[in-house]
Amino acid sequence: MIEVKQVSDIKAESSVLEQLSQFDHEQVLFCQDKTTGLKAIIAVHNTVLGPSLGGTRMWAYKSESEALTDVLRLSRGMTYKSSLAGLNLGGGKAVIIGDARQDKSEALFRRFGKFVNSLAGKYITAEDVGITTKDIEYVAQETEHVAGLPEYMGGSGDPSPVTAYGVYMGMKAAAKQQFGSDNLNARKVMVQGVGHVGATLVDHLVKEGAKVMISDIYEDSLKAITKKHGGVEVVSLDQVYDVDMDIYSPCALGATVNDDTISRLKCSVIAGAANNQLANEVIHGKMVMDKGIVYAPDFLVNAGGIINCYWEVIGYNRDAAMSQTEAIYDTTSRIFAKSASDNIPTYLAANQLAEARIAAMKHVQSTY
Ligand code: NAD
Repeated sequence: MIEVKQVSDIKAESSVLEQLSQFDHEQVLFCQDKTTGLKAIIAVHNTVLGPSLGGTRMWAYKSESEALTDVLRLSRGMTYKSSLAGLNLGGGKAVIIGDARQDKSEALFRRFGKFVNSLAGKYITAEDVGITTKDIEYVAQETEHVAGLPEYMGGSGDPSPVTAYGVYMGMKAAAKQQFGSDNLNARKVMVQGVGHVGATLVDHLVKEGAKVMISDIYEDSLKAITKKHGGVEVVSLDQVYDVDMDIYSPCALGATVNDDTISRLKCSVIAGAANNQLANEVIHGKMVMDKGIVYAPDFLVNAGGIINCYWEVIGYNRDAAMSQTEAIYDTTSRIFAKSASDNIPTYLAANQLAEARIAAMKHVQSTY
């Protein structure tokens, strides 16, 4: 069984191998190439369910230990996400240490692609923060172990609409749990961040008759939505946590459910796309539960993107990807039932279901 740990539990001062054992990682590959300036870390957390899949992030980390902590945390998160989504995928992730605006080159990404290839399919990469389609195209010239490619390269294209559909399904399941009906008609929903996922989520909500409020740092993103949907109301950035709402949907940043915001939030459901919404799973998962808010775990409801990538890996079928994403509704409901019967926060119920599937499949694999 994988032990559930907080990010803060990783002790940066520990040796590298000690850090790997804290999160129970299988393998970590440190990549460096002087000529291209490449400095990267690929972390394979767990491959019991299948090859590890997770995006590559490019970020100007302040230190190597910060980069290592990030890649260990993110790769472990992918193990849980794929397990819960019922995918035959393990968890992995990569980080490239560098400034995404200054340090990119064709050679750097192709060299990185060679490192990915050296893992012979144990790790499949994709886009993440700081990485564009163009970058991933270079990676794909050196390895076939890439997912989330654009359609013109034989890939499945932007996964965001699929992610948005999964968030919508998870939100409906949460509404059913909290209000006794999954109908979102007239429900007041605050969508924080109307980028790729948030904008499509708004489409689903408006279609169902929800009273949608939106917030974003970019004026043009807000205008595009209000032009399309007349009834949508814009809320200023600092008002988001204080408005009268039934559902809060974080679709921008992580850690927005924290000591400060929980006391302000007037919602009774939290369901959104952003990763790591609870600033601290253990503390804020419990606080949210004690306040009577139904929290749909982020790594479950935002799994549409990884589901889409999975179908790209095994042979793309959009209908199958959408139907598997629709099943997020049932999985979310199962987690709420477990949370209620065991009297534990929903994030913990989700972690336990993810771990149980990995343990069961480990047993299956031990037989010939
Ligand atoms: P995006 O960058 O397209 O959109 C994020 C939006 O949030 C942007 O419009 C940005 O301006 C806005 N934003 C940033 N800071 C804000 C703030 N303080 N207040 C309000 N808005 C703010 O990203 P996306 O692809 O739509 O993803 C949204 C979230 O969902 C991210 O956290 C991402 O990691 C997560 N996620 C996305 C996918 C996917 O398929 N795209 C899959 C899983 C998880």
